[in-house]
Amino acid sequence: MTSERRYLLERVDDAAVVQLYADGFADLALREKVLIWHLYLAALAGRDIYYDQRHAQSLEMRAVVEAVLTRGRDISPSVLQEVRRYTKLFWINSGPYNNVTARKFVLRLTQRELLEAALAAATAGAVLPTRPGESIELLIDRLAPMFLDPAVDPTVTNKTPGPGRDMLATSFNNLYSGVSLSQVENFSERYGLNSRLAQSDGRLVEEVYRVNGRYDREIRRIIGHLRDALPFATSSMGDALTALIRFYESGEEADRVAYDVAWVRDQDSPVDTINGFVEVYMDPRGVKGAWEGIVSYVHEAKTRAIHTLAAHAQWFEDRMPWDPRFRKPDVAGVTARAIEVVIETGDSGPMTAVGINLPNDQAIRERYGSKSVTLTNVSDAYERSTPEAMRVEFSWSAEEAQRAIKWGGFAQELTTAMHEVIGHGSGRMSPAVTEPPHKLLGEQYSAIEEARADLVALYFLPDSKLVDLGIISAEAHDDIVAAEYEHYVRNALVQLRRVREGTQIEEDHMRNRHLIVNWLRSHTSAVDVRKRNGNTYFVMVDAIAFRDGVGCLLGEVQRIKGEGDAAAARDLFETYGVHFDPSLRDEIVARVDRLQLPSYTGFVMPRLEARRNESGAIVDVEISYPCDLETQMLEYAAFARQDRHDSGHMPA
Ligand SMILES: [Zn+2]
Repeated sequence: MTSERRYLLERVDDAAVVQLYADGFADLALREKVLIWHLYLAALAGRDIYYDQRHAQSLEMRAVVEAVLTRGRDISPSVLQEVRRYTKLFWINSGPYNNVTARKFVLRLTQRELLEAALAAATAGAVLPTRPGESIELLIDRLAPMFLDPAVDPTVTNKTPGPGRDMLATSFNNLYSGVSLSQVENFSERYGLNSRLAQSDGRLVEEVYRVNGRYDREIRRIIGHLRDALPFATSSMGDALTALIRFYESGEEADRVAYDVAWVRDQDSPVDTINGFVEVYMDPRGVKGAWEGIVSYVHEAKTRAIHTLAAHAQWFEDRMPWDPRFRKPDVAGVTARAIEVVIETGDSGPMTAVGINLPNDQAIRERYGSKSVTLTNVSDAYERSTPEAMRVEFSWSAEEAQRAIKWGGFAQELTTAMHEVIGHGSGRMSPAVTEPPHKLLGEQYSAIEEARADLVALYFLPDSKLVDLGIISAEAHDDIVAAEYEHYVRNALVQLRRVREGTQIEEDHMRNRHLIVNWLRSHTSAVDVRKRNGNTYFVMVDAIAFRDGVGCLLGEVQRIKGEGDAAAARDLFETYGVHFDPSLRDEIVARVDRLQLPSYTGFVMPRLEARRNESGAIVDVEISYPCDLETQMLEYAAFARQDRHDSGHMPA
């Protein structure tokens, strides 16, 4: 029964833990279930790569706290409780850094308490990640600064290190090792996306992520599971998986391109996966790919509505409020689907996006198009787990709160679809520009691209074309537009709760929203800032002024991308998108905490289990919902220790 389902499972500090459901899975054909099963194992097989990319000590740290949790019977309850709190945050964020703020969170114990807990766990039979010849004391000495000291390696990604400071030297991820930005600038990378750049004997070395390279063991396991999946894939998906295997084997750019093309060409398979080094947000340079694994299947009914939007992409392209030289004469292959996610690992889970548009390679997007998806079961779980108080607290009026409750879910799902389908897929570069925009815009690129996609969605939401297409009803149109604009403006305020320290925003989607609302506040009469009982409200007061402003800003943002105008991008974000008033943030944090509202969400994924007959053939794949983060994360860790690509089962 849907009504009895548990969505919000628990709170850990300012994070919510929510169960994700995949209702359509049980109705899939056996062939698709078995395909998903193998892809699910491939997604699990790469999970530890991402932990390692986040920080060089992540996996050892995780092994220590997981050992304490599983063998903690002789540890004092208060110490165990703190280890449990910390470990849950570590799991939700896939490592020691908050995924939203990029800042480190710490274990609130003394080194002595941590050591005693580790020793007690070892006595109880836990295996700790000591190096050959290393005692547990030395292991804890080595890891304690990362666990306990907020000043050690404080940020994972620092795109704005301040004047005279080095972006790479102040970003403590493991995509680079001992390398400064000035060294990289004089070095030509052959494996930009899929290597760690390290210093060896005074020169730079690319440690390539591939078979016989860095992450060899994990990559071999991934390949094994992908091979197992091949017989169950459609022929176009089989081509993509084969190309992906080749890329994992060689690590070569040409094979990555071949894979991207094959993946985009697979438009009709009911099942899809993303498995590899994809998004570049963790790298302050925006070059190195973070590993992620996603397995999904198509939600047919919701996909029909999105297809309508995609089928008319050219209509929107022809009316983009930017200089016609940036309009694509023929929008190629913009496809969009609503999907249900079965599992997300690495960079894409437990914290997840609600929409995805890939590949990121601009040249492939322009030539072959891209694939867009909205993650319907993720949106649904977000919606059902969000307390009503969240909408009411920051709404100026009762009508605004009512509109949010009535139309918020629909409006956000639609704008997400528009963001992905007609946003990211739109526009072209100036013919005079030969370099790709991410090279020209550097660390500003991702935020500019996100702003562009959001602005396209906001700009076209009030267009009567959506009514003509049957996507929005004419009577509700004004309410839906108001609900979305109000939400967008409110969110610029409410999202400050996620940046509890510092006075600047790092995450690119947050930068883009901050930019848009601040820019509208400065240039239009669409947004009013009001006070009541000491509380601040951002109030959307004029939807027409809002839309006009959005069109104007969109023209400039597209020009910046199309011309690769890095100076203008930096100026725009420095003025409107990065900095905020800490006293306002403190007010929001206090209001959110008073209502116990979460700042971000980690999802517990569905769990699959293969049923076999006596000869070992899979006769069914069953889905279940653990409703417990700790159970799932410990199961994943056990899987990483035991996985052989051909074993095909989760450990009991
Ligand atoms: Zn986006």
